[in-house]
Amino acid sequence: MAEQEANALLEPAAQSKAVRFTVLECPVCAAEVSPEEWRPPALPISDGPIAVSVTVLACEILAPRSLQSVLRKNAGSGAEFQSRSAAWSRLYRDFGLEMSDVEYLAAIDSMESDGRVLPASCRAFFAPQQTNFLHPHMGIGFEPLNRRYREILLHIVRKSI
Ligand SMILES: [Zn+2]
Repeated sequence: MAEQEANALLEPAAQSKAVRFTVLECPVCAAEVSPEEWRPPALPISDGPIAVSVTVLACEILAPRSLQSVLRKNAGSGAEFQSRSAAWSRLYRDFGLEMSDVEYLAAIDSMESDGRVLPASCRAFFAPQQTNFLHPHMGIGFEPLNRRYREILLHIVRKSI
């Protein structure tokens, strides 16, 4: 997942496109906002016919470059994608604690490899100083894995520039 995010970060910037956001209520913190409230202005979005639809989680913040890979690959297709947080929240609603953390990671990694999930970390509205590679509610038990993910991501990016 870190390699996929690093590769997406290293690609040239895509032309901005019209993006439709669907915002899911968070199954953990119950955050619920409209797409207009959620949309950070720094994302590479323009007006016009919808080129890409992206589902996100209400309590997450995506970096401007997080949409680059889908804008580049699927310009004008109307294709649908979701953030890692949205993918996680859908699985969590269906399976909750029946799935282990490893199973969540494997499932989201598989969806990301298929190109249906944005290869991007996020931050939480309630803790914007912390970047999480999977979703805003990664607990303290995930911190070593989250730190290792950042190390691998930064190593790949530094090696490539
Ligand atoms: Zn939440």
